[in-house]
Amino acid sequence: MCSSLMLDIRKSNPDYMTFFVDGTAYSLLQCLQNKEALTMPQSVERLRDRPLWWHTFDMSRNLLFPFAGFLGILAYILSDHYTRFDILLFVVFFLATGIGATVGFHRLFSHRAFKAKPWLRITLAVLGSFAWQRPLFAWVVRHRLHHAHTDQKGDFHSPYIRYDGTPITGTLNQFLHAHYTWLHWYDPIIDPQSPLIKDLYADSSLRWIDRHYDFLTVMSLLIPGMLSVLYYGTAEGFVRGVVWGGLGRIFISLQLIWLVSSVTHMFGKKPYVTNDGSTNNHFLGWLVMGEGYHNNHHAFPSSPCVGFDKGQFDLGWLFIKAMWKLGQAYDLKAIPEARRRQFRKSSHHQPSGSLSTTP
Ligand SMILES: [Zn+2]
Ligand SMILES: [Zn+2]
Repeated sequence: MCSSLMLDIRKSNPDYMTFFVDGTAYSLLQCLQNKEALTMPQSVERLRDRPLWWHTFDMSRNLLFPFAGFLGILAYILSDHYTRFDILLFVVFFLATGIGATVGFHRLFSHRAFKAKPWLRITLAVLGSFAWQRPLFAWVVRHRLHHAHTDQKGDFHSPYIRYDGTPITGTLNQFLHAHYTWLHWYDPIIDPQSPLIKDLYADSSLRWIDRHYDFLTVMSLLIPGMLSVLYYGTAEGFVRGVVWGGLGRIFISLQLIWLVSSVTHMFGKKPYVTNDGSTNNHFLGWLVMGEGYHNNHHAFPSSPCVGFDKGQFDLGWLFIKAMWKLGQAYDLKAIPEARRRQFRKSSHHQPSGSLSTTP
């Protein structure tokens, strides 16, 4: 679906041929403009060494409290005690924070798939923080290393291997590690001088947003809570806002984005040649704004459009394209059609729970 849209961009950007993405980690090296970046030792913290209270707190914040919010949504629905405003609040915050994470944290900041005006960069960074996926800089470093060492030692959330190189066996263990438990194993230590992050660290607004992540997560609950109070004019309105636009929404969006790390590295089609276990999942492609076409993404990581094949729906790309038409996004990186054909192979299903590195 993106072909004709890409054509528009090419017409207005005669230099698009310089924006090759080539299906290997080399595109990331080009993106970082520093070939040493990926061979440098990355400082990491072994989260396993943190005290039990930290793991309890982190699990409460990322899993238990959002799950309580999700149960709240179910309770409102089952008791037929919800309104169109509740649903609107959920949808608006789900879409806005999803765009912040997928378009902002992922395609703009991690991959530099396009450039954006300052107000848009800041908005996407704030909305991405509202998605509760940990602070911006750690997200970007972790993700750039995920592409550099996909499904190998040095990948934080591969189903097949831990960051330290320990293999993971058994389909359930593999799924759980890539989906959630990796959050309790290792995390990068941010070095402002590292080529993996110094491009973003130079931006003082992004430094502020990264440093105030905890504050922003609280705001992501207070804002829907206060909007709901304004609408209902009651104290119960605050609870409804936190449940629908806050915790319940966070539970669903976190589970969906985690499924991209787990399911689309284990199950599904693999239409493009990549040296990893990435796959495409149509269901997640639709629900996670194009991110479920993860094999497409690993083949062409710097492309602003992920769902670029026939029948694929990429809401993140539609947002980027709209911003480009409005002159707020620019320098979009296009994939020449010949390049896409070169990396395409006949579709087949990836065997469940295994990792094939052969084309
Ligand atoms: Zn991946
Ligand atoms: Zn990526």
